[in-house]
Amino acid sequence: DLHPVRRALISVSDKTGLTDLAKALADRGVEILSTGGSAKAIRDAGISVRDVADVTGFPEMMDGRVKTLHPKVHGGLLALRDNADHVAAMKEHGIGEIDLLVVNLYPFEAALARGAGYDEMIENIDIGGPAMIRAAAKNHAFVSTVVDVEDYGPLLAELDANDGQTSYVFRQRLAQIAYARTGAYDAAVSTWMADAIGETTPRRRVFAGTLAQSLRYGENPHQAAAFYTDGSDRPGVAVAAQLQGKELSYNNINDTDAAFELVSEFLPAEGFACAIIKHANPSGVARGATLKEAYQKAFDCDRTSAFGGIVALNSRLDVETAQAICEIFTEVVIAPAADDDAIEVFAAKKNLRLLLTPGLANTAEAGLSYRQVSGGMLVQDRDNGQMALDDLKVVTKKAPTEEQMRDLLFAWKVAKHVKSNAIVYVKDGATVGVGAGQMSRLDSALIAAKKAERMAEAMGLPQPLTIGSAVASDAFFPFADGLMEAAAAGATCVIQPGGSMRDDEVIKAADEAGLAMVFTGMRHFRH
Ligand code: 5GP
Repeated sequence: DLHPVRRALISVSDKTGLTDLAKALADRGVEILSTGGSAKAIRDAGISVRDVADVTGFPEMMDGRVKTLHPKVHGGLLALRDNADHVAAMKEHGIGEIDLLVVNLYPFEAALARGAGYDEMIENIDIGGPAMIRAAAKNHAFVSTVVDVEDYGPLLAELDANDGQTSYVFRQRLAQIAYARTGAYDAAVSTWMADAIGETTPRRRVFAGTLAQSLRYGENPHQAAAFYTDGSDRPGVAVAAQLQGKELSYNNINDTDAAFELVSEFLPAEGFACAIIKHANPSGVARGATLKEAYQKAFDCDRTSAFGGIVALNSRLDVETAQAICEIFTEVVIAPAADDDAIEVFAAKKNLRLLLTPGLANTAEAGLSYRQVSGGMLVQDRDNGQMALDDLKVVTKKAPTEEQMRDLLFAWKVAKHVKSNAIVYVKDGATVGVGAGQMSRLDSALIAAKKAERMAEAMGLPQPLTIGSAVASDAFFPFADGLMEAAAAGATCVIQPGGSMRDDEVIKAADEAGLAMVFTGMRHFRH
């Protein structure tokens, strides 16, 4: 199953390592064919190369749209060397075998990332490259296909280990990578087009990403894992620059994303905000007059859980906040920017990872979210629902005060990012109790209140901070019991979607308890 490499076709947009590879191949007696720009680079390096145009008898034309689309190329890639008819056809038409294809595609993803216009994107759709890759990979019984600069080294090692030949398993592995590349490439084209033409329904979508990082393991150590990026420039963990600390783990990436998406709900223009996340749920979220105060208040919501958490900030990290964060063990800090002296403070904490993003995520932006289930994938619009003061409907006799309204909206924004059933108590722009992921809304209300009690004890407060708080529920109260539990914990105003069969009952109970309640008409389940 060893097959010699005598003739190679090289056509690459990314010229990294090109001349070294060409030289190494030439040194091993491989004849090199190449396209315009690649051939020029190889020739300029003093290495002998033959133009594909010379082989095909056709010049490259139409701005490079047609370069290698020719039977002399595709026949050479696709012919079965052990099939008499194929061999006869090659002979009859003067087609020479091509044993090695080295192609990397027009940089479509890079053009996307720099925000190129429609026409430029169209020109960046590679046609001949994918055609050759798919042909060569199909014929991996004989042909080696290299689509990634990273595989140049292993290719040369393979040739050296096998006296200028490649093994079948090696070619198979390359073919698998080749199809991953062409698949991801067309997925990127289709995804870009969907955006460009405003196709928002999650129908006829393809999903593929670019491998960004092989992870040490997945959610648990016995699970292998990797991080794929989709090429979007949405600020967040995928595009963040990591300034220090160990490599991010699977759970770090998941939690950092949750933290950053949550804190992005709070525009810097409206003040400083901080979110601390544990296991994808916030242990605390707060606004502050300073960033440090926001952090401190978020931390105070649940000091126990904040240990080993992920901290997301909506504003530039300053030295005071950095020092406060350093007082306990924190896994990751993500922020839009950081002062030099803050970066210096973190430098002493080797294990703390600092990520800087280009701004905050736009939480109102449309997009898709995916979830894998056995046998398939669920696709839906990202939950980009926004709520403004005017959208709220007061349903109780008592209306919330302006101050209460602010806390209600704050609680609502947080509840959107808490796993259902979500109950969030807020006071003075800070969560004071978060109940997440329970199977009943009543239990979420109870747990959040219980935690607030425990924090009050730990901090030596005369009473839990839920007394006089605003409470948000991510979905309607199906019965009055959950609401009554929140009232018992001291909540004096409520925000919830409404829409239950028993709304009347719940509103009546609220009125009797002297609560002010508003309906949003929108729910924020998050499972
Ligand atoms: P070069 O810089 O060598 O002129 O061009 C290399 C690029 O051209 C590679 O990215 C390769 O995938 C692409 N390519 C090769 N043949 C064709 C073709 O026939 N049509 C198009 N559109 N691109 C091609």
